[in-house]
Amino acid sequence: MTYRPVPDYHMHTPRCNHATGTVMEYAQAAIASGLTEIGMSDHSPMPDDFDKPWRMDRSEMPGYLKEVEQVRDALKEQLTVRIGLEADFHPGTEAYVAEMISSYNWDYVIGSVHYIGDWGFDNPDTIQIWDTWKIEDAYCAYFRLVQQSAESGLFDIIGHPDLIKKFGHRPPADSVAVKEAIEAMLQAVKKADVTLEISSAGLRKPVAEIYPHKAIVKRAAELGITFSYGSDAHAPGEVGHGSDACLALLESFGINEIASFKQRQRTMQAITHD
Ligand SMILES: [Zn+2]
Ligand SMILES: [Zn+2]
Repeated sequence: MTYRPVPDYHMHTPRCNHATGTVMEYAQAAIASGLTEIGMSDHSPMPDDFDKPWRMDRSEMPGYLKEVEQVRDALKEQLTVRIGLEADFHPGTEAYVAEMISSYNWDYVIGSVHYIGDWGFDNPDTIQIWDTWKIEDAYCAYFRLVQQSAESGLFDIIGHPDLIKKFGHRPPADSVAVKEAIEAMLQAVKKADVTLEISSAGLRKPVAEIYPHKAIVKRAAELGITFSYGSDAHAPGEVGHGSDACLALLESFGINEIASFKQRQRTMQAITHD
């Protein structure tokens, strides 16, 4: 099944210190693969002492915005380029994040949970900390934070909503605590009317699975929760990766619309086949 391309709203720049390629290279890759809309969403600045090596510095923000604006304007006949940000949800930093978001007229802001306390659970450099956790407890702590990120009202999109599975750690399949944490998260997402990201990045990670798991997509569909698509590209060659698989997963649960954003207003467009 081939689908008409949908917007890819999750891609990075070298400012975050773990991505390659210019914004123009991401945009050209998108055009080459037939996309008509993308959005840049580099890792946002955070307060000074917070895991600095994995994000742009606040001083780099004007350069980021200028580069994306220039590409947007230069390619406007061929490609719609939206300007976004991937912000972190980390309790205690909400005021900083709110101020940073209010400093620019974003098309959308993705809120992602990459930390439980001080632990970057998706960071290969600290994977050994997994050994000190009961997997079920890590999952519950993670989904509780995702729930809080939805309740914070800061974000338009929840990024890769079950990133906790990245390295393939799995709680017991019958864990009631994890089921309840996921249900509470989805209820919060529904209530706050935020959009969930369906992300192909997991296909490129040890878990080898789309984010979020099909059971989460199924329950989100029942609740009428909206989805946007993101490749989480950290290199131009990853733009649009896995989008057909993501759209097929949505469709398998009766979801036939995908979200687009402009100036933080959401519009739904039909998922259609060629
Ligand atoms: Zn990244
Ligand atoms: Zn992320």
